[in-house]
Amino acid sequence: MTNKCPNCHEGHIYTDKNIYFNFFRNKMHKTCNKCGYKFEKEPGFFFGAMYISYTIGVAQALFTAGIGSYFYDTPLNLKVFLWIMLVLALMSSFNMRISRIIWIYLFKNNQ
Ligand SMILES: [Zn+2]
Repeated sequence: MTNKCPNCHEGHIYTDKNIYFNFFRNKMHKTCNKCGYKFEKEPGFFFGAMYISYTIGVAQALFTAGIGSYFYDTPLNLKVFLWIMLVLALMSSFNMRISRIIWIYLFKNNQ
């Protein structure tokens, strides 16, 4: 959650300080600027982060549907669906970043 390198816990993964709610600026460092740890191990390495992003997105959608069911009569009406779309759109940048960070941490011992 702190945007730190999984190897030395000092260098940053993303170039921006505000890594979670920062739309359209998803620049990552190729390697850690403190220890030289390579974040993208091979081309297409972050393809697998899509699975984590998808899981987080589904969890957020279910959570939103759960909250929506308190405010509307039926749990799956169009208004709840629109709320889910809004939440997913707003959280997309956060989801992409956190899923890549989780993916980097999952494979930190396989360098
Ligand atoms: Zn490092």
